[in-house]
Amino acid sequence: MQDELSPAEREALAPYFTSLDGPVFALVNLPEVVKGALFARYSRSPKSLRRLFLDEFLGEGGLAGARERAAALARDAEGTERAERLYERVFFEYGDDSVAQLGGVHLACEGASNILTKVLEWGRLMAYLEQSTRYIPYDDRPGGRWRYHVPVELEGGLRDRYVETLDRAFDTYRASLATLRDFFARRYPRAETDSETVWRTTIRAKALDTLRGLLPAATTSNVGIYATGQAYEQLLLRMRASPLGEARAYGDLMLTELRKVIPAFLRRVDLPERGAAWSAYLAETREATAEVARRVLDDLTPEPRPEVTLTDFDPDGEVKVVAAALYAASTLPDDQLSAIARQLSAEERKAVLAAYVGRRGNRRHRPGRAFERTSYRFDVLTDYGAFRDLQRHRLLTLEWQRLSPAHGYAIPDAVQDADVGADWRRVMDDSAELHDAVAGAGLVEVAPYAVAMAYRVRCYLEMNAREAMHVIELRTAPQGHPSYRRVCQEMHRLIAERAGHRAIADAMTFADHSEVELERLAAERAAERRRK
Ligand SMILES: Cc1cc2nc3c(=O)[nH]c(=O)nc-3n(C[C@H](O)[C@H](O)[C@H](O)COP(=O)(O)OP(=O)(O)OC[C@H]3O[C@@H](n4cnc5c(N)ncnc54)[C@H](O)[C@@H]3O)c2cc1C
Repeated sequence: MQDELSPAEREALAPYFTSLDGPVFALVNLPEVVKGALFARYSRSPKSLRRLFLDEFLGEGGLAGARERAAALARDAEGTERAERLYERVFFEYGDDSVAQLGGVHLACEGASNILTKVLEWGRLMAYLEQSTRYIPYDDRPGGRWRYHVPVELEGGLRDRYVETLDRAFDTYRASLATLRDFFARRYPRAETDSETVWRTTIRAKALDTLRGLLPAATTSNVGIYATGQAYEQLLLRMRASPLGEARAYGDLMLTELRKVIPAFLRRVDLPERGAAWSAYLAETREATAEVARRVLDDLTPEPRPEVTLTDFDPDGEVKVVAAALYAASTLPDDQLSAIARQLSAEERKAVLAAYVGRRGNRRHRPGRAFERTSYRFDVLTDYGAFRDLQRHRLLTLEWQRLSPAHGYAIPDAVQDADVGADWRRVMDDSAELHDAVAGAGLVEVAPYAVAMAYRVRCYLEMNAREAMHVIELRTAPQGHPSYRRVCQEMHRLIAERAGHRAIADAMTFADHSEVELERLAAERAAERRRK
């Protein structure tokens, strides 16, 4: 399809369409709502997008002044207001929620506690990037304050105690950072072949990795989000239902800022009968479930479990993956293929999987959706630092329990070896006592802010074999943090040995079980080679 465009039309379109001739083009310099509304018209119009823009979005007046009117549409306030009216027409005419998937926003959320980052990063259909506790030392005090959040719920003496305790934890973190750097510098002297930069960066990362357990969950971070209007709507509805003042306050700030860019997509969020009712539903079901859980679980205590337990898998999983691998290459129905896969010899099944997986050149060469035919459910009890990293995976189901000191804490060997074990234990004890004091004051939901990230939290991860391949291979890479490396190495072992899915485990060729002393060294060397 080619548009017949007059010179005047081309002039009006040029700033907003990356190509005026080809069948593929991007929309630029337009408000998100205009772009969304334009795409929404595809479903009910035989016209091309460029023609729709000219005919329907530039308003009355024909071509005379089209360029000026297009510029007005694209200009911030005027354009957004006008786009909103266009969107309302399209949205209400078709009543289609998915229209709000057609516009996106980059949003920065700075100074968010680690507790809040997990709320922000809950949604699957968003993209996130976060300041790393592995690469950023939290040893400075911008504005004279350590980088942690003080919950608005805390008042009076309890607030003072919270601030004093967290200040002490950060003091210890800073002092220990210097000690651990020296310790690692002595333990791992620079190789002659490494530059000073590579070595220093590696040693610093090792010290940061080792010490992040001292930081409380209240430690603040910066999160960049890219998402559609619909994904933001879901996030804001959840945040408005949160028991945490910080989440509700950030929800309000986010709504204000997002409405400057995509107001039409977020109209429902605070309407009493729409978004408010939706948030109330979320809050009510959460509270009712907590209540019923209290009743049915009464005073039960957790049975001891290892760090990673495979709690559910399908013993027939591998056979089903073989059947699924054959599906797209055959004309047979699904259940017939399952029966056939069961009758194949072990050798034949192996041959099918070998062909399907092929020769993987790197971890990004991932086999197809047949690997989504079987799933694994893991219960994991690991330190909060590892949990917060694993929680970033979106194509799985992950839920976690409230952070508390109940499951004890991890203490890295290097902390003992560098003689900071006593400081570490003091921070842990202070953190546990503060948690109990806050919870004892009736602020159970707020108490996790006080808990150091070395404390263990329980979560489950349920994922299909394709996502397991991604998570396990990414998170066992030598440059990964030792805590989540250990968890994912164990997941890999359990898939092979406990589920008996050896072929699936073997297909994860890039799962790395090697012992690594300096996690960042190879990556830093490679980065330097690339820079050169
Ligand atoms: C050594 C190391 C260092 C890291 N450092 C940082 C850091 O400093 N800061 C930081 O924020 N994160 C960091 N991460 C986390 C990492 O960048 C990912 O955010 C995280 O692993 C989860 O996302 P994912 O896409 O890998 O996997 P999943 O969310 O599990 O997704 C699996 C796959 O699905 C697809 N997918 C999922 N969601 C989308 C989407 N929205 N759009 C398109 N495709 C999608 C992609 O193909 C993706 O690979 C680090 C990870 C490692 C291993």
